[in-house]
Amino acid sequence: MLDQDLHIHTIFSTGDGAVVPQQTVSLIAEVRHAKIIGISDHFDYLTGNRFEDYRNEVLKYGFLLGTEVDGSNWVDEAIEYPFDYFVYHCYNQTRDYQGAEKLLSTGKPVIIAHPQALDTDLNKISVNCYVEINNRYVWRFDWRKYYRPFIGIHKFILGSDAHQPNWLNHTLAQHAANELGVKNTIIF
Ligand SMILES: [Zn+2]
Ligand SMILES: [Zn+2]
Repeated sequence: MLDQDLHIHTIFSTGDGAVVPQQTVSLIAEVRHAKIIGISDHFDYLTGNRFEDYRNEVLKYGFLLGTEVDGSNWVDEAIEYPFDYFVYHCYNQTRDYQGAEKLLSTGKPVIIAHPQALDTDLNKISVNCYVEINNRYVWRFDWRKYYRPFIGIHKFILGSDAHQPNWLNHTLAQHAANELGVKNTIIF
C-alpha cells in the first residue's frame, strides 16, 4: 500500500477523455491503494452546482478534497472554494508562476503537477510548493537531468495521476525517486 496519493481523477473530470466510466470515487474507496487519499479532479468541471456533489462524494469516503487547476486563469475562482489542497498546472509563463504564489497565499498545500510535461521552470517555483514526480508522465522525459539540480532544494511528492483503476500506483514515480535519492513528502 502507498503512503499517500493526492493526484487522482474520477468521473467528475467529465471532459477528460482518459477517465473511464468505472473510475468512480467509490471504486477508489474499494481499492484503497494508499493510506492517505485525495481526489483532485479538474477544477474546470467542478464549478458552480457541480461542486457540492463533488465535495459530498469525496468526503463521504473520508478522502481529502483536492482539485487540479489549469493555469492562472482559474486561480482566482479556485481559491474561493474550500479545497484542502491544490494540484497546479504551471505553464512556463510569468502569470502562471504568479498563480502558484497566489495559491500558496491561501496557506494550503500546492503541488506543481507533472512539471516536465508543462515545461515548468523549477527555478521560478517557491520552495514552499511540492514538486510532483508523476507516475503518468515521469518516464516520458529525461527526469534525471530535469530533477537533479533541485535535489535538496525542493520538496518532492509522488502522484499517480490515475484516470483508470489500473493507474492507481506509483511504480514509475517511485523508481525515479529512488534513483534520484529523494523522499516522497507526506503532507497530510
Ligand atoms: Zn495535469
Ligand atoms: Zn491530473
